[in-house]
Amino acid sequence: MSTTTQKVAIVTGASRGIGAEVAKRLAAEGFAVVINFASSANEADALVAQLRQGGSQAIAVKADVANAEDVRRLFDEAEQHLGKVDVLVNNAGILKTVPLAETSDELFEQTFGINTRGTFNTLREAGARLNDGGRIVNFSSTTLALNLPGYAVYNATKAAVEAFTHVFAKELRGRNITVNAVAPGPIATDLFLHGKSEEQIQQFAKMPPLQRLGQPEDIAGVVVFLVGRDGGWVNGQILRANGGLA
Ligand code: NAP
Repeated sequence: MSTTTQKVAIVTGASRGIGAEVAKRLAAEGFAVVINFASSANEADALVAQLRQGGSQAIAVKADVANAEDVRRLFDEAEQHLGKVDVLVNNAGILKTVPLAETSDELFEQTFGINTRGTFNTLREAGARLNDGGRIVNFSSTTLALNLPGYAVYNATKAAVEAFTHVFAKELRGRNITVNAVAPGPIATDLFLHGKSEEQIQQFAKMPPLQRLGQPEDIAGVVVFLVGRDGGWVNGQILRANGGLA
């Protein structure tokens, strides 16, 4: 185990998109960072190399958050290589928009498996293994407030994440650990852009009064606030970071 006092952060789904940006910002803030990924090994390795080149400590750990055994190993490897974990960012998630009546059993299981069970698995592990004084940031979505057709299952997975957030913040009483969730509006990543026409993308971009899509940096900054000194009195909250969309 590391003998340094450097704080350690696990970011799930950090090979691409918002998670990769969160990992970069946390490394810049001085955290040793665990880059979790499921399949994008090349991207995860490249990010680790980039962070190390910048003088940060970082490792990549392949683990499917939907699998409890993988998640135990994710924490084991973090502790072995970097030390006990202080910050957990539950960013890994998937979105496939399909009308409820056309949703297959497989898609239902997969979406709940990654978005909801994945968050449950890491929260349960963090409850036993996070350092006192730690921080947890979950990921919900502003789509929960929009009720757009096609988002029933995805929104349901994120409603569960919001419920975990409120209750777990209270269950950790006495540990000085905060539990919050960020609920982004549309962010220009694969998850949002994939399968949409340019016209659909522009429609979403015009929706918030700030009249643009969010960028991963917009959300990474919110996560840095929540895990940093200035965010310490925010607990059990859902922070809707969406340019004023909802
Ligand atoms: P993204 O660009 O598609 O990236 C998703 C990340 O999650 C990837 O690093 C992916 O890794 C990882 N991942 C997927 N399944 C995984 C699994 N089973 N175990 C571990 N990692 C897994 O998505 P994003 O836009 O950055 O979204 C990040 C979070 O923000 C999600 O929770 C999403 O629901 C939420 N969100 C996004 C938006 C948006 O508009 N983009 C809006 C609201 C909320 P691999 O490539 O290795 O599989």
